[in-house]
Amino acid sequence: MSDIPYKIYLEESEMPKQWYNVRADMKKKPAPILNPGTLQPVTLQELSGIFCEELAKQELDDTTPYFDIPAEIRDFYKMYRPSPLVRAYCLEKKLDTPAHIYYKFEGNNTSGSHKLNSAIAQAYYAKKQGLKGVTTETGAGQWGTALSMACSYFDLDCQVYMVKVSYEQKPFRREVMRTYGATVTPSPSMNTEVGRRINAEFPGTTGSLGCAISEAVEAAVSQEGYRYVLGSVLSQVLLHQSVIGLEAKAALDKYGIKADMIIGCAGGGSNLGGLISPFVGEMLRGENQYEIIAVEPASCPSLTRGVYAYDFCDTGKVCPLAKMYTLGSGFIPSANHAGGLRYHGMSSVVSELYDQKLISARSVEQTSVFEAARTFARVEGILPAPESSHAIRVAIDEALKCKETGEAKNIVFGLTGTGYFDMVAYQKFNDGEMSDYIPTDEDLKKSIDMLPKV
Ligand SMILES: *Cc1c(COP(=O)(O)O)cnc(C)c1O
Repeated sequence: MSDIPYKIYLEESEMPKQWYNVRADMKKKPAPILNPGTLQPVTLQELSGIFCEELAKQELDDTTPYFDIPAEIRDFYKMYRPSPLVRAYCLEKKLDTPAHIYYKFEGNNTSGSHKLNSAIAQAYYAKKQGLKGVTTETGAGQWGTALSMACSYFDLDCQVYMVKVSYEQKPFRREVMRTYGATVTPSPSMNTEVGRRINAEFPGTTGSLGCAISEAVEAAVSQEGYRYVLGSVLSQVLLHQSVIGLEAKAALDKYGIKADMIIGCAGGGSNLGGLISPFVGEMLRGENQYEIIAVEPASCPSLTRGVYAYDFCDTGKVCPLAKMYTLGSGFIPSANHAGGLRYHGMSSVVSELYDQKLISARSVEQTSVFEAARTFARVEGILPAPESSHAIRVAIDEALKCKETGEAKNIVFGLTGTGYFDMVAYQKFNDGEMSDYIPTDEDLKKSIDMLPKV
């Protein structure tokens, strides 16, 4: 065994003091977000009506490479960061591969995922602006949990619109949020105009992320002293999540390890974008080469089967339009899909990097994702979130390829969180009742045909 430890920790003093904005190094920038009414690029003033002002500035800034991480945020980070970079010796042995596998584990906090990295930043800027509270949506519940933790830390009101099907299927997630002081409302609700409209149009609907976003935005703009915050997709979220990549890079550098391949799961693209940012920065500046793979569910394949076009970020069509790889804002994954990552679109930064072929993408079916999760759990101990297990699947596939070729590649993947609240999905898998559904071209065409004409 080599002298690389199982867990590569950074010292507290080695933690990043700035976030890295990869857009600054992109020669061709992501397309600007547009006002859905005027179809003109949104202005800071317009955006500040929805988002906290400092966050709106970060959203629109594609030239500043580094942003200082405020000391208050760094202090909070210190409670659960730096997160470990783990050498997966046991998985390597199990696979009998010459590859060296590393994973950056973001599940070591009560919210159970990387989402706390951005939640604490967004709550901080809301507090600093003197707001009373924030509104948001949550799907499976990880973002809502992270935000409720962050809001309780800064003593802010937190109103969460939770996709109805999750609200009913994941009562314990809901209780975690309530314990941290958040109000949790199943979406679509009757609290908002858009919720009432969607309920009337689709009676009995179990909701979607896009719909919950519309409700949360409406709730923010209709209450004084409130703004809306979002847990993924936005460029500001990628900026905050760059802390993952910066730490990973610092840890690899500390041991003189050069990553060959970097793999991350992609829902809205924030953990992937954050993990790869410093590495992509090196590629953009011509300093290094990496093979980067985004992994998405075959049942919600925005990068691999979507179109690169302007689309709404939400079903209610109240958010700005973003140019992204999308399946159309009306797309809802099939009901048997259990693995998360169900957003119809993709971060405009990740989309543009993909379009420039700096990163590649792969889609995987959920039963194979859970097989990978089980293999990983049994040898590495951690019970992975289904979302994270998409990255595990491809890391295992690539390590097995190395076994054939005899290459000792350094494979780094993002292990975004733990799966303790996903036991219904694990139960289905363990009982052999999980099935795969890949949407047909016909299915996809329906929502893609509804894209706005821009
Ligand atoms: C939310 C979430 C994801 C996907 O979101 P991204 O914005 O694509 O990173 C992945 N893993 C876990 C554990 C999550 O909670």
